[in-house]
Amino acid sequence: MVTIFDNLQDYGCEEIAFFYDKKAGLKSIIAIHDTTLGPAWGGTRLWNYESEEEALTDVLRLAKGMSRKASISGIDVGGGKAVIMARAEQKTEALLRAHGRCVETFKGRFLTGEDVGIGVEDVEIMRKETEYVAETKGIGDPSPFTAHGVVSGMRACVRDVYGSPSLSGLKVAIQGVGHVGYNLARELHEDGAELIVSDISKELTERVSQEFGAQVVGVEEIYSVNCDIFAPCALGAIVNDETIPRLTCKIVAGAANNQLKENRHGRLLYERGICYAPDYVINAGGLIAIYMESKHNTVEEIREKIEQIEQRIGKIISLSKEHHKPTYEIAHQLADERILKKRKEREAGE
Ligand code: NAD
Repeated sequence: MVTIFDNLQDYGCEEIAFFYDKKAGLKSIIAIHDTTLGPAWGGTRLWNYESEEEALTDVLRLAKGMSRKASISGIDVGGGKAVIMARAEQKTEALLRAHGRCVETFKGRFLTGEDVGIGVEDVEIMRKETEYVAETKGIGDPSPFTAHGVVSGMRACVRDVYGSPSLSGLKVAIQGVGHVGYNLARELHEDGAELIVSDISKELTERVSQEFGAQVVGVEEIYSVNCDIFAPCALGAIVNDETIPRLTCKIVAGAANNQLKENRHGRLLYERGICYAPDYVINAGGLIAIYMESKHNTVEEIREKIEQIEQRIGKIISLSKEHHKPTYEIAHQLADERILKKRKEREAGE
């Protein structure tokens, strides 16, 4: 039997807390993965998990991803995450406020914001109970910034595969056209890319079809459509044993967190010659925007910093070639090295 402590050890997680509020019907978990670089930042996800184990694995994986995302992006914050186990219709003001009170108990060691199932308006409700929620007054919804970063990262992949960073004329299959997927579709359309999209929401696919001329396919079909880039923008673990053999693309580059079901799937992509943009590197635009907003940077400065994702992904691809290692391994190495260096410096100073 795998215990909670085994899990904490495996993920290298500093702390985990479970919350239950009987009156509000809240069941939530907050994981603080690493605070070496600063207080742990990470959104709150609301999802109808099938089991407590599934929720626990998700929060631990996501929290670790946040530590690495901040580290590799050169941002001085740690990694954390919160998950609420609930169906969408259970999301009430009472539930969100109860979760806000849980966040408050960390007194700033954990700062949260939106994620899948939690929008900007939900974060505002949490704010009634805690000041430790991300401030996005100036930038608004961070998703367009995330999408902008994904486009920047795609350019690095496209340059490597096709020899030019232009996205014009390339076929991009986007899985999930929610907050990030929609904005990604808009930018790619403006850049002249051809779009193929899928989503469980017909309303959302119709919108991108009408606005950007996207071809709509079924949720299973998206894996096997003929395309240059597959852009996962829905949920995680979609790069797995079942889907890899169906992919026709040369590049996997999208916003979803934890795209690889297991690390070995990153190796499988590498062995098949598919260029994979490590998820937490390419999807850091939202985090960069929120962080820079907290430092009072302008939108222009934020966009400039986000566009550096192109160089970052480019460097990872070059190192991958030089060391004959999959891109995800290179990204882990670079992200973990920065945290380790800071930890050693701190320990030496103590
Ligand atoms: P969202 O909930 O707005 O969009 C996700 C979309 O995926 C929804 O429209 C949903 O209907 C669709 N979907 C769900 N299951 C699907 C399936 N099986 N096939 C096709 N579509 C499906 O979420 P979002 O904010 O756009 O985030 C998308 C992904 O990007 C998530 O994994 C999130 O963690 C990650 N991410 C988001 C941000 C951000 O700024 N919002 C930042 C970094 C990472």
